Amino acid sequence: MDSQETYQQLCTYVRESALLSSAASVLEWEEQTYMPPAAGEYRAEQLSLLATLTHERETAPQMGEWLDTLSGSDLATDTTQPASAVIRELRRSYDRQTKLSKELVAALARATSRGQQVWTEARKENDFAKFAPYLAEIIKLKREEADAVGYDDCRYDALLDDYEPHATAAEVGPVLKSLGEALVPIVAAIGDSTHQPNTEILDRDYPIDVQTAFGEAAAKQMGFDFRSGRIDVTAHPFCTTLGPHDVRLTTRFDKSDIRPGFLSILHEAGHGLYEQGLPSEEFGLPSAHSVSLGIHESQSRMWEILVGLSRPFWNHFYPKLQAAFPQSLAETPLDDFYFAMNESKPSLIRVEADEATYNLHILIRFELEMALLADELEVDALPAAWNEKYEQYLGITPPSDALGVMQDVHWSAGLVGYFPTYALGNLYAAQFFAQARQDLGDLDAQIGRGEFAPLLDWLRTNIHQHGQRYTAAELVERITGQPLSSDALLRHLKDKFGGLYRL
Ligand code: ZN
Repeated sequence: MDSQETYQQLCTYVRESALLSSAASVLEWEEQTYMPPAAGEYRAEQLSLLATLTHERETAPQMGEWLDTLSGSDLATDTTQPASAVIRELRRSYDRQTKLSKELVAALARATSRGQQVWTEARKENDFAKFAPYLAEIIKLKREEADAVGYDDCRYDALLDDYEPHATAAEVGPVLKSLGEALVPIVAAIGDSTHQPNTEILDRDYPIDVQTAFGEAAAKQMGFDFRSGRIDVTAHPFCTTLGPHDVRLTTRFDKSDIRPGFLSILHEAGHGLYEQGLPSEEFGLPSAHSVSLGIHESQSRMWEILVGLSRPFWNHFYPKLQAAFPQSLAETPLDDFYFAMNESKPSLIRVEADEATYNLHILIRFELEMALLADELEVDALPAAWNEKYEQYLGITPPSDALGVMQDVHWSAGLVGYFPTYALGNLYAAQFFAQARQDLGDLDAQIGRGEFAPLLDWLRTNIHQHGQRYTAAELVERITGQPLSSDALLRHLKDKFGGLYRL
């Protein structure tokens, strides 16, 4: 059999696996949105069976044989061919999955399922000691996972690779560190400024049905295709893809503040636009898959922050917003509204942090994870180390572990090595956006007219259509001519907050 035939067989098989895993995605989406509570137990059984079947297919010896057959072929070695990236990524995930023993996978599933339950209770009771043994077990298993997967330089790389393929701590760490060092004085200067926004503007009456219509209209104007997607409400916003023409977004609303609902819609629609821009005819293959979580987050953060919290955006949308909420905003000038939307101050909770302080929350988690995995920090010492870093980077000390070290679900769910992808998203977004501005000439004027098609076309051409053809590092280099760097993000933050806070 020639390698072309083998490749076709492999692709057919992988796309059948995607049919199975996307069926699980439908059930998971429905669980979060509409499922009645009593249905939970059976739903868990359905999902568990589907996960087992998918895992069996993804680790089947036949997969390994096909990949071995292809490994020396032109299809794999000629990197100008799209097939080579498909083979590279299938090999990467096959190797990763087959290196983990059944016992380790089962132990991790047990530890994280129990870990999340205990975390929920312990956070409510502000009792870290209750959570600590479970977290210690999870960290121990994650160390084992990293050792089983293997790495060249440090253990952390093996875990990071699961979320940010081909990235390493040696590449990401110094960029995060330099970003953090530059942010600390900026954040301090913002805090010291005598010019501060009036945030009472955002604590008024914003009826939820009006917010829903306004947010959906904005997503549509950005280019989100509602024939191939929809928006629903959940406790925690997310974006999930159920099939080649089916992208689901969720949001949550606060009736006295438009920020959570509106900004979540922009954020999730940014993820959704990426998913809708991947080549649908290759759904299920790496060629129709996002590059990495960092690149995915670059799309959501670009639309949410660089577009949605920009002055040109509100030049266009603010009159419409005033018309939608006349009682709350008719008398409020755009300058005041815009400043309030962009309030920056050190805060305890990552998910509520503004764009200037956000990456410091990530740097703290990254440094703690590195220390935990390298056996330099024990779980019992984690709350003290956490609080020390919050003081060092943000100048605040959490009043409780519930508002400190236990605020995020990630570690209890075994998501160690995941946090850097949030900061990578912000870094890549700034680098891409600076390049788009150069390439498109009058990007700000386009946004100011509510015209988003040129930016979306630019993203489709440069990023979306390629699927996983390029790694994140290759993509940023290809598009901007530069490696990953904190320069573009820092330039953006200094310009924007320097102006707002008159620094
Ligand atoms: Zn996101």
